[in-house]
This record gives sequence, C-alpha cells and structure tokens, in this order.
Amino acid sequence: MTATVIDGKAFAATVRENVAAHVTRIKDESGVTPGLAVVLVGEDPASQVYVRSKGKQTVEVGMKSVEHKLDVDTSEADLLALIDQLNNDESIHGILVQLPLPAHLNEDLVINSIDPAKDVDGFHISNVGLLGTGQKAMVPCTPLGCLMMLRDHHGSLSGMNAVVIGRSNIVGKPMANLLLGDSCTVTIAHSRTKDLPDVVRAADIVVAAVGRPEMVPGDWIREGATVIDVGINRIERDGKNKLVGDVDYVSCSEVAGAITPVPGGVGPMTIACLLANTLTACCRANNLVEPEGLTA
Ligand code: NAD
Repeated sequence: MTATVIDGKAFAATVRENVAAHVTRIKDESGVTPGLAVVLVGEDPASQVYVRSKGKQTVEVGMKSVEHKLDVDTSEADLLALIDQLNNDESIHGILVQLPLPAHLNEDLVINSIDPAKDVDGFHISNVGLLGTGQKAMVPCTPLGCLMMLRDHHGSLSGMNAVVIGRSNIVGKPMANLLLGDSCTVTIAHSRTKDLPDVVRAADIVVAAVGRPEMVPGDWIREGATVIDVGINRIERDGKNKLVGDVDYVSCSEVAGAITPVPGGVGPMTIACLLANTLTACCRANNLVEPEGLTA
C-alpha cells in the first residue's frame, strides 16, 4: 500500500480562506475586526520567525495584528501589566505569549494571567479544564489542526482506536482529549510505555508528538492506519540540514493508509488554527454566530 498524503499546506490554505471570508462577513455585519496580539520576550531566533509568520498571516486574513516585542530581561510585573492591558483592550480578541519564556519568568503564572476567553493558544488552566470535561473551550492550535485533518480525511472518527505518542500539555494530552471527544478509543503512550511497537500496531490512528527524529518505523504501523506526524526535528543527512518528523516517512508511507509529511503536514495547520481560534474568540466576545468547522 502507498499512503495517501494528507497535504497540510493545502488544507491550511483552505482554512485561512474560510477564516478570511468570515472576517469579511463579520466586518460587514457588525463593524468588528478580529484582533490578535502576540507578545515576544527576548530574541530567540526560532520564536522571531514564528511571530513574524503569525503577524503576516493575521493581516492576510483581514484581522488586526499587534506585536509586542519585549527585552529579554523584562520583569514579570511588566509582562503581567501588558497582559492586563491587552485583557482590557476591546479591539484585541486573542492574546498569544510566545513560548518558551526566559527562565526568570514563570510560564504558568503568565499564561494563567491571560483572560481565558482571549487565550487563543488554549493553554490557560480554565481552557484545559473545559476541554478535559468536554465543554466549549479554546483548543490548542496544533492538536486542533490534527483533528481537522483527521475529520476531513475520515469524516467520523467514532469507534476508531487512536494512539497518541507523547503526553505533553501542548500536544499529547489535548490531542487525546480531542480524540476522546470524537469518540475514539484513546491510548496515550509515552517514554515509559512498555511494548510501544505493539501498542502502536493496534492503532487505526497514530499521532506522533515526541520530538525524536524518525523514531516510528513502518513495521509499527497497522496496514491502512492514518499517521499524523507532529514532530519537527532538524537533522544532518548527506551533508545537508533536513527537517524530519517523528515517524520514518518512507517506511510508514508503504503501510499506512494516509500520512502527513514533514514539512507540509501539521506545521502549516498550527498557524491556520491560531487564526481560526482568534475568529472564534471574536465571535464569542461579540455574540456573533460561530463559523462551523473551525473549532472542536
Ligand atoms: P515534549 O518534549 O513536551 O513531549 C514529548 C513527549 O514524548 C513526552 O511526553 C515524552 O513522554 C514522550 N517521549 C519521549 N521519548 C519517548 C519515547 N522514546 N517513546 C515514547 N514517548 C516518548 O514535546 P512536544 O512539545 O509535545 O512536541 C513534540 C514534537 O512535536 C516536537 O518535535 C515538537 O517540535 C513538535 N511540535 C510541532 C508543532 C507543530 O506545529 N507542528 C507544535 C508543537 C510541537
């Protein structure tokens, strides 16, 4: 079998078009422009690239984009004061604090100071609780993007066996909750899981979110399973710097029914879902009808 490639780049483009169409409609009907504020502390090069890309795509879908770039030695009090100001700014519907933060800042404290209704990353403890109890939440962007691709490919996920490899708060745990919400039978595997290959072989859906280059080989994959590769790993191969996922794409795509590539799979969906979450937050804040298909 040669797997169908789930094209995250193309799918993300359709999500952005959908968001842009709703932004236009909302502006026309209510005069409200959805606004996203991104806060970057320090000069981490990867974070700078992400923030630039987020700002660019926010503007492209017709939203207001605000960037706050703070010195690496910004005090916690100053950062919390900025978040408080954004919480009270009616033109801002989404607030994202780019992680990781410098070591002297308490990440949990900072994230939990964001108004949960504006927490477009879905990391606030209230949103984690809402998602965990099956209530309407702001959902973390990367797992939301994975869910959208799975729903698009399969339609209903009900009754499928899903194995999520990785138990992080950012990807693994929210992914498992989302799959549970769509009535999958979910297993969360992690670094202490026994017989990981056999656990993965039982899956109709495999979501790999580990951060270890190509650790899942094709012989762990059940024939016809769907493989979602969240991993982003830089490696040296044949003297070149390459981006690879957590699954061995070549051997897995010989057995899987469908697979996301790296790059061009989950990655592009993450920012598209950030835009979708900002739109959702704007609709909820203004009692506007929420667009369908852009949230869990
Ligand atoms: P993390 O380091 O927080 O968590 C990794 C998880 O993998 C842990 O729960 C750990 O238990 C598990 N793990 C480690 N070694 C294992 C092993 N040998 N077997 C089974 N499980 C093992 O990482 P994260 O933030 O969840 O990110 C995971 C990967 O996804 C990284 O490559 C990251 O770069 C990528 N990522 C991509 C996006 C995107 O937009 N595509 C977003 C977030 C993270």
